[in-house]
Amino acid sequence: MSSTVRTLDKNGKDINIVGFQRFGFDCEVSLDVLRLLYLRKHYVKTVTSSSESVKDDEQDESSATAYFSKSIYHADTQSISYTTLSRFPPVKLLPPSKRKRILVTGGAGFVGSHLVDRLMVLGHEVTVLDNFFTGSKTTVSHWVGHPNFEMVRHDVVEPFMIECDQIYHLACPASPPHYQYNAVKTIKTSFMGTLNMLGLAKRTKARFLISSTSEVYGDPEVHPQPEDYWGHVNPIGPRACYDEGKRVAETLTYGFHRQDGVDVRVARIFNTYGPRMNPFDGRVVSNFIVQALRGEDMTVYGDGKQTRSFQYIHDLIDGLIALMNSGETRPVNIGNGDEFTIGEFAELVREIVEKVQREDGVEPKRVNIVYKPMPTDDPQKRRPDTTRAKEVLEWQPRWTVRMGLEEMVRYYKAKMEEGSI
Ligand code: NAD
Ligand code: UDP
Repeated sequence: MSSTVRTLDKNGKDINIVGFQRFGFDCEVSLDVLRLLYLRKHYVKTVTSSSESVKDDEQDESSATAYFSKSIYHADTQSISYTTLSRFPPVKLLPPSKRKRILVTGGAGFVGSHLVDRLMVLGHEVTVLDNFFTGSKTTVSHWVGHPNFEMVRHDVVEPFMIECDQIYHLACPASPPHYQYNAVKTIKTSFMGTLNMLGLAKRTKARFLISSTSEVYGDPEVHPQPEDYWGHVNPIGPRACYDEGKRVAETLTYGFHRQDGVDVRVARIFNTYGPRMNPFDGRVVSNFIVQALRGEDMTVYGDGKQTRSFQYIHDLIDGLIALMNSGETRPVNIGNGDEFTIGEFAELVREIVEKVQREDGVEPKRVNIVYKPMPTDDPQKRRPDTTRAKEVLEWQPRWTVRMGLEEMVRYYKAKMEEGSI
């Protein structure tokens, strides 16, 4: 494998390692180790000579790129074959005093699955709790059977008991079409699910981290948004089930903290994208990439002047782990300050899709950008003020939006080629 595809950070330096060493805690992991869990051989093909690719194909399960189960679509019979792993990626051997029992609710979702990868590679015991509403078993199937890993189908609105040291409470649909699909269930998940997981944290004395959201700021009148801004949320609009759900989940979290001494962490996550995002969940990054790869019109809602700031998944996971292992109990924004209008963003995605297609020897077809009605209550602007994260977590995003998008395009392109999208 040659090194012609390089991933550079915002300062132009190569990213080879993710994670960090602080709070007396070492969570550095090689980026290539993680990539072997989500990028397929087509990606390697773009950086290898053809003879190396063939060799790799022949070696298949014994090669270094074999750390994922496969789904192979058979067009002739309209069927799909799944293979399971015969071996697992190496994980760190931690002494029992350092090995934590970690519960990840929503661990089969987009963010959860990347968090699970990181925690597993670091050598912890991980239990995933998920009802598979928007997540899929395939996102973590490469760990099924590993002695440090367990997956439980469970809906967090029902109580659950397990001994654990840390809880990352992520379970909740995150894309507007998904969380609006059953608004009552969304708010139930936010309220009852969080209540149940906080009860578990109280009982087991586990440290509890909740994935809150920039949506608690609603359609903000303060820009960028610092954590002490109280927000501007429509309590009865179509987004309220999610926005108000997360606000009440934060209220519950601080209730348990003040009344019962539960050790809590609150991450307010801003728009995050990356491999394993459900390609059909309606969020803007997945929509634009899939549309451009398929040669379909890219759909910008409204006039495209609304803004968002996009963060790559590995930066978010660094931030979540840093927060969990820090002493900070106040809410912390975790996001990337690179702000785009959605119109500009559509053009950037189109350019990157064309670049990756050219690298793969495919002459791209220029797709159109078309305008559709603006959804109700769509926030006009959004950008995190990450001063607190910089100060208390020594965290700031490293990935440029362009670098992250290139990797995500390669991931979706491979999924399309194998027929699973
Ligand atoms: P996702 O939809 O990919 O993952 C959510 C996971 O939770 C899925 O696996 C789903 O099946 C599971 N789930 C949903 N309801 C459940 C229930 N009642 N019981 C058990 N499991 C349930 O979304 P994501 O992007 O991975 O988001 C994860 C978390 O991060 C969510 O809490 C979301 O609010 C938060 N967040 C994400 C973003 C982002 O841009 N990705 C931004 C802000 C906040
Ligand atoms: N959006 C768009 N086209 C799409 C999907 C979304 O223009 O195909 C817009 C959407 O209206 C919003 C922004 O992109 O202004 C981000 O939407 P997303 O659903 O990803 O997340 P949100 O930040 O709104 O929760």
